[in-house]
Amino acid sequence: MVPRPLPNFRVTTTFLALLLAWHAPTAEAQKRSTRFNAKPSNTVEAAAMEFALSAEEIDQLIGKTADVLTSNGKQEQNVEITRFFTGRDKSQIKSMEVKAENARRGKRLFATRLVEMTVDDKSYRFQYLPSLKAATIEDQSKKNAAIKDKLRSSNEQFWEEIPEEEQLKHVEEYKEFLTKVGEHFTTLNMKFYETKYFLFYTDMPAKQVAPYLIQLDKMNELLGQSFGFKPGHNIWRGKAVIVAFMGKPAFLEFEQQFYNRTETGNAIGLCHSHGNGKVVVSCYRGNDPNFFGAVLVHETAHGYIHRYKSTVPIPTWINEGIADWIAMIIVPSSKEVRFRQTEAAARLRQMKTFGGQFFNSDRLDGWQYGSASAIIQLMLKASPEQFKLFFNGIKEGLTWQDSLQRAYGLTVEQLSQAYGQSIGIPLLTP
Ligand SMILES: [Zn+2]
Repeated sequence: MVPRPLPNFRVTTTFLALLLAWHAPTAEAQKRSTRFNAKPSNTVEAAAMEFALSAEEIDQLIGKTADVLTSNGKQEQNVEITRFFTGRDKSQIKSMEVKAENARRGKRLFATRLVEMTVDDKSYRFQYLPSLKAATIEDQSKKNAAIKDKLRSSNEQFWEEIPEEEQLKHVEEYKEFLTKVGEHFTTLNMKFYETKYFLFYTDMPAKQVAPYLIQLDKMNELLGQSFGFKPGHNIWRGKAVIVAFMGKPAFLEFEQQFYNRTETGNAIGLCHSHGNGKVVVSCYRGNDPNFFGAVLVHETAHGYIHRYKSTVPIPTWINEGIADWIAMIIVPSSKEVRFRQTEAAARLRQMKTFGGQFFNSDRLDGWQYGSASAIIQLMLKASPEQFKLFFNGIKEGLTWQDSLQRAYGLTVEQLSQAYGQSIGIPLLTP
């Protein structure tokens, strides 16, 4: 491939100012609200209150036995809840007191350190609201039941937690599949690499494989962090399967033989996201190892997005935007995504509009990938917490437009404008 010029893409602060203006109150307003009615100060805090226990419900927890998890990873097991310390609003707790069975005195746990607890088999999550310096207690069971209902109405569902022994069975199933692939491509002498989350099957030389495996693990970790999973959480059904060939002919043959696919366009990689949760990425390295690294992360990110939380499909611009954004972060040696961002900005400077052909399209034009990743990048930069809320909202059954409104307080037109401002087109229309 021809080396591409390094673009001079810089995020202007205008976008951030516009986004932040919607949720950051002035110090004055914040003081006032805390003093009088203790309202949340931004969209993330408001969302955290949607399923918060009332003062009466919190009272009813006193005297019950709980398992409490704190932020240093410590579990207080089988402790009795003896008291909540609240502000004037009794549903907002500053700290709680618990007592172990044989302890003479209670122990005080401060709201900043509380993560979650289980009481009578029900789970609760503490939501710390910095503007109020207190936490609400979110009823997870109630929240999940409400989401389940919403998902059911559109024929979607939460992905089920898979017990460990079933996970092992899935991995065995994939290994059998890969053995068949190997038998089909006997002359390629394909080899098998297994990590905690990936089954990687390839005809690449062993020493070339290692860096790609590291990048995939990093991607797994960073996406988990960006969406809201704890480190170490395995999102996959068993593991994700990657079939990576050196050359294009084998890739095309694999697609035809195992996926009955003859049309692959210019694709260097494809992500097969199965309805049952199985994810198989196929790809070929060609002669640009950096670009291949970015493609591998991009395609595998689609699999991750498929497997995150629920079966709800993610709109194309968001799905491609996240996949390109994460590829840019994890494989900085590939300049492809930055190049696409510059190219998209140049195009839009001519057109001054997406012409209705971006936000609601099922397929993006090549140049539009640059806009998709740039918008995701700006949204993340404005606030990782708001982005988490935005993405989870879609996976929990909100339309992406409603989720955008809830998380960022923006309409599609305003989002388009904010992106436009960041690339010097103040009135960019969707
Ligand atoms: Zn893609």
